[in-house]
Amino acid sequence: MAGKLYVVATPIGNLEDITLRALRILSEVDIIACEDTRMTKRLLNRHEIVTRTVSYHAHSSSSKIEWIIEQLKADLNIALVSDAGTPAISDPGASLVRAVKDYNKLYLENVISIESVPGPSAITTAYSLSGIESTSFTFLGFPPHKKGRRNFFENVINRVVDQDEVVMFYESPHRVDKALNSLSLSDKQLKIVIARELTKIHEDVIEGNPSEIIKYFEDYPEKKRGEFVIIVNK
Ligand code: SAM
Repeated sequence: MAGKLYVVATPIGNLEDITLRALRILSEVDIIACEDTRMTKRLLNRHEIVTRTVSYHAHSSSSKIEWIIEQLKADLNIALVSDAGTPAISDPGASLVRAVKDYNKLYLENVISIESVPGPSAITTAYSLSGIESTSFTFLGFPPHKKGRRNFFENVINRVVDQDEVVMFYESPHRVDKALNSLSLSDKQLKIVIARELTKIHEDVIEGNPSEIIKYFEDYPEKKRGEFVIIVNK
């Protein structure tokens, strides 16, 4: 018998945004594999959960994945959580889920089951506040920092303008200006929705064309702090 890997969604800001099942699983598993143990401990302390935590992040070595798989093989149950939201969406969780699936392919017995414990994600939360009525959207993760960045924004503009898509991506506060500048270079009219600090005290949804939003951030520089989801449509 092998243990189970639970992929557990945690809050994207407000620590109350966690399901009853997620709280039960987090308190019942043997180990919680966290992107950042300090972040996750804030959540665990709030809910009086004392489960052992280990770190599993973007710079974890392959031996860390092997160690986690060894624990699962030894019948321990593990919950995978990220810093915020649903693990494996634009965060390192995907490599662990992949590694467990690859392990399962090799073995017909003693397979490790993977179970979802769904909850918040910044993408769906942002979209639900956007007021955009389209039934589909394209999510592009984070823009590249350097190489490929220009292509990324050309691709966003083409998708929106030529293919009528609604495009969503994540961006860090340090690069949000650059992203807006790249989008404002298009002569085409784009509508931008910026969903910021979702579920937190300063939650904000800002709408306008790229130059209006650039002006807004010049007038209110404090609004440029925090975490952002950017939605582009026309
Ligand atoms: N897996 C996560 C999810 O399901 O939303 C996303 C992980 S990704 C590493 C982190 C990015 O999500 C942030 O840089 C930001 O773009 C977005 N994000 C996370 N929390 C947010 C929040 N409260 N408000 C707006 N965006 C948020």
